[in-house]
Amino acid sequence: MTEQTKVMIDKFGRTHDYLRISLIEKCNLRCTYCMPEHGIPLSPAKELMTAEEIGKFAEIFVGMGVKKIRLTGGEPFLRKDFEAIATALAAFPVELSITTNGILLDRNLPFLKSLGIKHLNFSLDTLQEDRFAAMTRRTGFQKTMENLNLAIQEGFNLKINCVLMKGDNADEVADFIRLTKNLPISVRFIEFMPFDGNKWNKSKLVSEAEILAAVEKEFGKESLISLPDEKNLTARKFKIAGHQGEFGIISSVTNPFCGTCNRIRLTANGRIKNCLFSNRETDLLKVMREGGNVEELILESIYHKKAVRAGMDDLEKLSDPDLHSQNRSMIAIGG
Ligand code: SAM
Ligand code: SF4
Repeated sequence: MTEQTKVMIDKFGRTHDYLRISLIEKCNLRCTYCMPEHGIPLSPAKELMTAEEIGKFAEIFVGMGVKKIRLTGGEPFLRKDFEAIATALAAFPVELSITTNGILLDRNLPFLKSLGIKHLNFSLDTLQEDRFAAMTRRTGFQKTMENLNLAIQEGFNLKINCVLMKGDNADEVADFIRLTKNLPISVRFIEFMPFDGNKWNKSKLVSEAEILAAVEKEFGKESLISLPDEKNLTARKFKIAGHQGEFGIISSVTNPFCGTCNRIRLTANGRIKNCLFSNRETDLLKVMREGGNVEELILESIYHKKAVRAGMDDLEKLSDPDLHSQNRSMIAIGG
């Protein structure tokens, strides 16, 4: 196979160069939108990728054109060999970044800095302690806020991920945007997406249109500035005039970004997912362990990616539990 044919292009011409690797299926929070209260069935330890196998996959994907790798989970800092994995991946010519709930960030910050990691996605859904407990089914609000401030002080390029849900935190849009007044951060509001076991209901969804209406009501239409789209956009970006930071909306439910999607996901048990919403997975780890041709399988998986949300191309299909419940819970995908 020549270098050229190894590039991951699907049948719609989308080139894939961004890999999200889930390091672990476990988490120290229990976010209601992400996982069922009773947890998920965990893969047996021997079926999870080892640090060495993660390094081998990274090498393969980088050889196939990946330029950006994000480490996610579960909670990536819970992985005991996190430092070994991140050190190995930082040696590749990629932009390495992490998505975390932030609870264990303080003890990992010096290490992240030593690796030269600059980008952090930090999940925080509410600025109110009682709501944090309800939404995450755990305590930890104070620690999360301390670590958020620490990451800002230490100069990380910070994106706050905030999943909005009616009845929980939908009224906090303006409070989050106020954080961007004097801080150079980006707040990204994420539409609540349906996955197995998260009791998704359209009535809980806060849509892009509703978010923008709330922003205009609070800050005035004239203050809302639309920022240019990025090449492989994951969020539509805005800022309020005079604010240092910005905000974005990830509208995967009401206005998806599939047309420019460049993302591939590798689960902690070594399966490739060509779309966040797809229940079709290819077991790369098994094939790698048997000495088979992993690259062929990757190319095949990417090629067969559907145009929009694994075939759930309208809201009616996405809302159908018979379709979206066949997918994993988000905690076992990684976002
Ligand atoms: N534990 C880390 C964290 O929370 O940042 C990384 C894993 S978490 C699965 C990755 C991202 O997925 C988080 O920002 C989380 O808010 C988002 N997420 C989880 N379930 C979601 C859902 N149903 N709809 C939208 N976003 C979701
Ligand atoms: Fe854990 Fe992140 Fe899922 Fe919350 S969103 S339960 S922090 S994996």
